[in-house]
Amino acid sequence: MGKLNTPPIYHVALRKREEIAKETMAFYFDRPADFTFTAGQFIDLSLPNLSTSDPEGHTRALTLASAPSEQQLMVATRIRDTAFKRMLAEMPLETTINIEGPFGQFTLPSEDSRTIVLLAGGIGITPFRSMLVETVHHKLSHHLILIYSNRHPEDAAFLYELATLQKENNHFTCIGTMTSQNGGTETWEGETGRIDHVMLRKYVKKTETALYYVVGPPAMVDGLRKMLESIGIPKTSIRSEEFMGY
Ligand SMILES: Cc1cc2nc3c(=O)[nH]c(=O)nc-3n(C[C@H](O)[C@H](O)[C@H](O)COP(=O)(O)OP(=O)(O)OC[C@H]3O[C@@H](n4cnc5c(N)ncnc54)[C@H](O)[C@@H]3O)c2cc1C
Repeated sequence: MGKLNTPPIYHVALRKREEIAKETMAFYFDRPADFTFTAGQFIDLSLPNLSTSDPEGHTRALTLASAPSEQQLMVATRIRDTAFKRMLAEMPLETTINIEGPFGQFTLPSEDSRTIVLLAGGIGITPFRSMLVETVHHKLSHHLILIYSNRHPEDAAFLYELATLQKENNHFTCIGTMTSQNGGTETWEGETGRIDHVMLRKYVKKTETALYYVVGPPAMVDGLRKMLESIGIPKTSIRSEEFMGY
């Protein structure tokens, strides 16, 4: 995670928030005129007026789930019982917060003929939504396969939007998989089970030559990295981002 030149701090207003999956919300902020970023990058979002103390402080790293070609800045997160997340979910619209960034090099290669496999767990989908919307917008030729794992369909933010994107980009395949058979409220006809080498080989023709991007809770990222290395994928072909805190 690069923080070489500290970018400016922007004061931006919350314009909209919406529930996008179970206990998951998207937040839309004004985009400062000179704010540029590459899909996959993150910001530090600070709530300067966080009144209640939060052991993790008043700043969180959050990936921009909006694409660079989109007007507003959008982040998405699971709403849990922390002072930070409560304020984000309850503060009045038009509240001004601080963002710093963009940060990070978790971005797609500009030119690469290899198949790019995106493996997402839960809210780890955020950088991939930004990348995929941008790829369609610019009609980029990357061959992309997304395998997106959640417990239940109602937990899967952006899943239906991404599934629709396939129609606009025949270089993109979107696979949702649900890991829990019971306790869900929505029906699911699609893939089930955790992402493993069997599922990978089912959807990725040449697994050994593909480039892998892995995002999710640290334990999941670690498990997927080990799985990929165990089937001979070189470390240099695996890029990952761990969403601490989950
Ligand atoms: C580069 C990057 C991008 C991210 N993008 C997103 C995103 O798009 N959406 C999203 O929801 N989250 C994202 N996260 C995670 C986010 O920063 C928060 O950690 C997460 O949202 C949980 O916040 P919380 O307030 O619910 O819980 P927190 O109170 O932050 O954390 C809950 C628990 O996790 C532990 N914890 C928190 N941070 C760390 C840490 N760094 N190391 C070890 N333990 C820790 C805490 O001790 C606490 O017990 C990203 C993290 C990184 C590093």
